[in-house]
Amino acid sequence: MELFKQEWVTVKPIKALGVKYLNKVPYKKAIKMVDEGSAVIANPYTIYKLFDRRSLRRYVRKIDKNTCVYCGNKGESTDYIVPPSDGGIRSPKNMCCVCMSCKKSTT
Ligand SMILES: [Zn+2]
Repeated sequence: MELFKQEWVTVKPIKALGVKYLNKVPYKKAIKMVDEGSAVIANPYTIYKLFDRRSLRRYVRKIDKNTCVYCGNKGESTDYIVPPSDGGIRSPKNMCCVCMSCKKSTT
C-alpha cells in the first residue's frame, strides 16, 4: 500500500502505546517515518505510529544490544544519527545506542 500524495497525513498511534490522540504530519515526514521504520501505512491517508519516545528508546537500545555504537562501552542512552536540526527524525533508523560520554544531543 502507498500513501496518496497529500498535504497532511493522519498519524494514529498503535494501541499498545496507550495513547489515543490523532496527529497530522506533512506528507514528506510521513514517508520518512515509514521508510525509517517508525510507522507503517494503515491506509492511503493514515499511518500508524509504532513507538512513543520511551518505547523507541527501549527498542533502539535492544537492537544495539545496550552497547555504545561509538566506543563499545555499555550504552545507557540513545542519540540521533542525523540531528533534528539537519532534518533527522525520531526513528529506529536514525537513532543509536550510546553511552553518556559519547552522547551529543538530547533525545
Ligand atoms: Zn560511548
